[in-house]
Amino acid sequence: MRLIILGAPGSGKGTTAVVLRDKYSLAHISTGDIFRSNIKAGTPLGIEAKSYIDKGQLVPDSITIGMVEARLAEDDCKAGYILDGFPRTLAQAQALDEMLAAKGEKIDAVLSIKVDDEIIKERVTTRRVCEKCGASFNVKFKPTKVEGVCDLCGGNVVQRADDTEETVAARLVTYYENTRPLIDFYQAKGLIVEGDNNVDSESCVRSIEEGLKALGI
Ligand code: AMP
Repeated sequence: MRLIILGAPGSGKGTTAVVLRDKYSLAHISTGDIFRSNIKAGTPLGIEAKSYIDKGQLVPDSITIGMVEARLAEDDCKAGYILDGFPRTLAQAQALDEMLAAKGEKIDAVLSIKVDDEIIKERVTTRRVCEKCGASFNVKFKPTKVEGVCDLCGGNVVQRADDTEETVAARLVTYYENTRPLIDFYQAKGLIVEGDNNVDSESCVRSIEEGLKALGI
């Protein structure tokens, strides 16, 4: 099964993707995570990506598309995957279609996560993530048992550099300009499955599972 998860920053793409990864035994490919690990390791890709990410802008397609193509060629993608945070532009979506068509493959469904902007702003600015395992917490809604320490692996729990109020506003503008149009692109292909994440992630995952069943997946 090959899935895409689409949604605004902080809509819960990552959390939803992890649940579906475990349920359907998929590889979880988060372009944001790949960029962040390159930033941490100080690679040339990371240094270039950081200059865009810190401003809430998209890393150029010329960098991102090749990076995803290389990742999709890895062994763990053979049994299926969930793309989290890619595609984010029409050019990325078209490039993805082409790279899959060349292998006789296609996307099975596109999960569209809906959350109101005001809720996003609150959730993102209070979000904290584990530097080591990537687990997501929230100082208001899901605090760690010990402040700054991951409940799952004991790693450092920090605020992402781009989770500030100012950067979130810029990321939302970027989302509406570049990524939101992808919903129509995939709707036209009959691939959209909706999940409402305004209330809680459990009900969002449930409606996605029902939507996948309705598509015969
Ligand atoms: P995320 O963790 O998905 O919120 O991504 C964090 C940041 O990484 C985004 O705000 C972008 O700057 C960058 N990024 C992630 N995925 C992409 C993509 N597909 N295209 C361009 N930039 C991306």
